[in-house]
Amino acid sequence: MKNINQKTRAYALKNALAHKGKSNQGAVISALFNEGLKKQDVKTYIEEISKIIQEVNSLSIEEQKKEFEKLENIVSKREIRHGLPELPNVKKSGVIMRFSPSPSGPLHIGHVRTACLSFLYVKKYGGKFYIRIEDTNPENIYKPAYKMIEQESKWLSRGLAKIIIQSKRMAIYYKYAEKLIKKNAAYVCTCSGDKFREYAKKQKNCPCRKLNVKENLLRWKKMLNKKGFKKGEAVLRFKSLEGMKNKNPAMRDFPLARINETPHPLQKNKYRVWPLMNLAVTADDIEMKMTHIIRGKDHRDNAERQKMMYKVLGKKYPWTFFLGRYKFKDLILSTTKTRQAIESGKYSGWDDPKLVTVAALKKKYKPEAFWKFTEQMGLIEADRTLDKKEFFKMLDNFNRDVM
Ligand SMILES: [Zn+2]
Repeated sequence: MKNINQKTRAYALKNALAHKGKSNQGAVISALFNEGLKKQDVKTYIEEISKIIQEVNSLSIEEQKKEFEKLENIVSKREIRHGLPELPNVKKSGVIMRFSPSPSGPLHIGHVRTACLSFLYVKKYGGKFYIRIEDTNPENIYKPAYKMIEQESKWLSRGLAKIIIQSKRMAIYYKYAEKLIKKNAAYVCTCSGDKFREYAKKQKNCPCRKLNVKENLLRWKKMLNKKGFKKGEAVLRFKSLEGMKNKNPAMRDFPLARINETPHPLQKNKYRVWPLMNLAVTADDIEMKMTHIIRGKDHRDNAERQKMMYKVLGKKYPWTFFLGRYKFKDLILSTTKTRQAIESGKYSGWDDPKLVTVAALKKKYKPEAFWKFTEQMGLIEADRTLDKKEFFKMLDNFNRDVM
């Protein structure tokens, strides 16, 4: 640990000033743990720490105040900036991270933590923070969510978020689809869904897997053409690295793009072939040069699929962390259920004070209260169940701190 003496002195002074001039050794050590002091190193430093605390405690409060003014900078800055554990592989230029909500509804507290973790790391190290609205499934979009997500993310990040809308980047996804076909890493499969599932179950290749690049490019054009394949007649599939024998059935030649002619809320009928999540996410993460990804645990299989695609495309996969889920004992987080409850009149709207949507929470709290909350919850893989009362008490405290 660097500058341990100076930090010890700063925390001892801070603690002494908060307790009538007498600093407590336990409190100082616990502050040092947050700074990166390791438990096994306490023995090495304990003598020096005790000595510094004694020195600080022998000063008058006036002297402590004077000295603390000079060292205050180290303490407060470190506390805000280093509430979260350090990330590995951080370059001098900082980190590039994203939060990718689907526009099926506005943001709620479950999103807040994932968004804030990435955002706080970008704030800490410098770099770029993207809010990427993943809207390439025309069937699962709640149109007002675009505006709400945009406003809410800007509010939450104090303007630092850069908003990206996937349906405006279709040319990129088509380019990647073609790239994969040309690398012989993707093929257009015309088997029915049932038939393909059967092949997958038996760990056998479907007949389309052996088509050559030229034939696949022709079939891909037929997918894009209105007069070509119809909905459900063809999908673009990734040629999985361990093929159809992959131990994990979810990895066996998963689909990359499909035909869906449902009018899209923003793009109307402009496109008929839509990339599925793994294609769009991989293309964007590569194009945006993502360095670190923090995502929900439920994306483990997707991450595995995306890793394969990175490999085929000759790219190094970003560092990834899988977050545990949040549950409330007595609150629903599901967007669909909340939407239904609003429509049936149970709630007055997305900003009903009984809800934990950002729309509701932002009327009462400052964004910094959520940053503190996120730091407090930390970077953990375990699921957590929160109690509504405790949660609001915690937020109230944090909000008071940042006033
Ligand atoms: Zn097939």
